[in-house]
Amino acid sequence: MANIIDGKIIAEKIKDYVKKEIENLKSDGIIPKLVSISVGENQASMVYINQQKKNCEKIGINYEILSLPEDINEQEIIENIEKLNKNPEVTGIILQLPLPKTVDARKIQSKILPEKDVEGVNPVNMGWIVYGRGIIGPCTALAVKEIIDYLGINLYGKEVVMVGHSDIVGKPVALLLVDKFATTTICHIGTSDAGKLEEHVKRAEILIVAVGKANLIPGDWIREGAIVIDIGINKVGDKIVGDVEFEKAKEKASWITPVPGGVGPVTTAILLKNVIMCAKWAKNR
Ligand code: NAD
Repeated sequence: MANIIDGKIIAEKIKDYVKKEIENLKSDGIIPKLVSISVGENQASMVYINQQKKNCEKIGINYEILSLPEDINEQEIIENIEKLNKNPEVTGIILQLPLPKTVDARKIQSKILPEKDVEGVNPVNMGWIVYGRGIIGPCTALAVKEIIDYLGINLYGKEVVMVGHSDIVGKPVALLLVDKFATTTICHIGTSDAGKLEEHVKRAEILIVAVGKANLIPGDWIREGAIVIDIGINKVGDKIVGDVEFEKAKEKASWITPVPGGVGPVTTAILLKNVIMCAKWAKNR
C-alpha cells in the first residue's frame, strides 16, 4: 500500500524558506511586489487571482492586480509590461491566461523581463533550464522536482516516464529530471494513439502524469513500488480527481500524490518561492 504524499507538508517547508528570505530582503530594503496582469473578464481567473493575492499578502509579498480591457491589442499589453519591467518597485510580473484569442500569448510572455518572470515562461528562463542552469522555472515543473527531492530519491539511472508534453509542465519536467541522469521518456497523445502508453507506463519507476483525462492511467499499469506523481485536475461529478486511477494505483505504488492535495499546494508554494528568487535577482541588478 502506497504512502500518500502530502503536498501541504512540502508546501509548508517551502513557505518557511520564503518567510526567511523575505526577512532577509527586507533588511536589504527590498519588499517583493508582484503585479498580476489579466485581460478581460473571466470569472474563473478572478477566483484564482484573488486566492493568489491572499497567499502573497499572507506571507509578506505585495500584490497588485492590473486589469486590462478585453479589446486591448497586443502592442498595448506589451507597453504595459514594459512599464512594469522598468519600475524598480515591481519585482515580479505574472501574466494571467487565458488571453483573448487575438493576441499571441507566447510573444507577450517573452516581453516580461526574465528577472521578473515569476512563472518562468519567458523563453530565456526556459532556455536556462535546457542548459541545466535554471533559476526560475514553470511552477508545476519545479513542484515535481521538489516532491522528488523531498522523498530523497536519487534520480541517477531511474526509469522516469512523463505522460504529457505541454510546454509548461511535461517538457520542463523531463528536462529537469534528465539533468539528474534519470532515463526519461516523454509520452503524449501520439504514444496513446500508437497503442504504446501501457508498455511505457508499466516500466516507470517514477511515473508523472499531466494530461487532464480522468482515469487515463489504470491502477494495474503501475509498476510495483513505483512513485506516482499525478498532476492532472479533472472534475468528475462534484469531485476533483487526477489522471491516475488512484484507489487501485495506491495498492501498487510506494508513494503517490492525491488529487487534490498533492502537486497543487506545492505548485502554489513554488510561485511564492519564484517571487522571492526574482526579488533576490533584482537585488543584484
Ligand atoms: P496540456 O493540456 O497543454 O497538454 C496535454 C498533454 O496530454 C499533451 O502532451 C497531450 O499530447 C497529452 N495527451 C492528451 N491525451 C492523451 C492521451 N490519451 N494519452 C497520452 N497523452 C495524452 O497539458 P497541461 O497544461 O500540462 O495540463 C495537464 C493537466 O495538468 C490538466 O488537467 C491541468 O489542469 C493540470 N495541471 C495541474 C497543475 C497543478 O498545479 N496541479 C498545473 C498545471 C496543469
